[in-house]
Amino acid sequence: MDLMDDKKYARRREEMVRLQIEARGISDPLVLQALRKVPRHIFVPDALSEQAYGDHPLPIGDQQTISQPYIVAEMTQNLELTKTDRVLEIGTGSGYQAAILAEIVFRVYSIERKRSLYDTTRKLFDTLGYFNIVTRYGDGTSGWREESPFDAIMVTAGAPKIPDVLIDQLADGGRLVIPVGDQHSQILTKIKKQKQTIQQVPLGGCRFVKLIGEHGWPV
Ligand code: SAM
Repeated sequence: MDLMDDKKYARRREEMVRLQIEARGISDPLVLQALRKVPRHIFVPDALSEQAYGDHPLPIGDQQTISQPYIVAEMTQNLELTKTDRVLEIGTGSGYQAAILAEIVFRVYSIERKRSLYDTTRKLFDTLGYFNIVTRYGDGTSGWREESPFDAIMVTAGAPKIPDVLIDQLADGGRLVIPVGDQHSQILTKIKKQKQTIQQVPLGGCRFVKLIGEHGWPV
């Protein structure tokens, strides 16, 4: 990629943050800084790099998608992250969301159930130097018990219900953001765990691909 392309994409990224993200009320400086930095065009298929900063999701192969930039920002802001946090992401996909998280927190654990996406994205993390992202291939609906508890968990696929096992793996004060609903539309839902009490807040409608696995939709 030449210098002109770098400049072009940096300009588009800045426009994306101003017009799609800040204009819609996202204000966490850590989230805005990460969105300004991560080269989203590198996380989409080559043929779609010109569309990478558009206000919409894009296909990434295997019938999966990279989420709309605003959804990434909204989910990230609602995790209320601090620099020392350890975060679990379920649904690595293109790796873009994990990279945004990795710019903000100490360590990201990310699980993907599609082998081809897992392999491609793992290589990309190494190429880009995201050494604080630990990846795992398999069903993420049971979380990652050995590495729990997590300060925050983000599920980037639509679940029929909130898996209890994920709430169990949240630290005291931990936050979970997950789309919950049927296969066509979901409500983005935030859970806060405080001294064993669970507070649940609906954030709004959304549409994600299915979370498939033991505590999600059947294969
Ligand atoms: N976070 C991704 C990104 O930044 O590109 C978006 C992911 S896409 C909307 C949802 C991903 O969740 C897909 O890659 C899909 O294969 C994965 N997925 C679905 N069910 C899963 C499961 N049980 N465990 C792990 N990954 C799963």
